[in-house]
Amino acid sequence: MATTQTLPPAKSPSSRPCPNCAETLASSLCASCGWEPGLVPVALTQTADGPVTTFAAEKRHRFMLAFGVLSCLFGPMILIGGISSGGGSIAAGIIFGPLIFVAGVMTLKNTRGGKAWWGLSAKERGLAMPGLIAGGFLGLCIIPILLLCVAMMKMSTDAWRG
Ligand SMILES: [Zn+2]
Repeated sequence: MATTQTLPPAKSPSSRPCPNCAETLASSLCASCGWEPGLVPVALTQTADGPVTTFAAEKRHRFMLAFGVLSCLFGPMILIGGISSGGGSIAAGIIFGPLIFVAGVMTLKNTRGGKAWWGLSAKERGLAMPGLIAGGFLGLCIIPILLLCVAMMKMSTDAWRG
């Protein structure tokens, strides 16, 4: 006798396996084990109903949050700075300002404000990347300026005391 096996419904391109139990994720929350982005599995308990996974919140990724915020802040600054500089800077400001701002927003959105990275899909990580790169780059540019400002302030206060 022929047996007919029912196949699982065809996966939509957006679906991906749960990073914890490998079940297909229909939404961001796993119906099988309860995982959702921002959580990492920490313990597996064998119960009568089967294994139950205990999750803990992912350690907050401060740099991701900082880089995302930096991109959001620098985007409008580059736009305004470019326009007020005039000439060729106007086009550069109009092109790069909004791009960097959107990249920062995508970083914050996809990493849930720096709370999730471990279980993110390649697509979500890809969307979060430009903002991380832009924020990281701008952050690195701003650090020497900040250090210089601090040094100048220190020198001026020293001179004041002296
Ligand atoms: Zn799962």
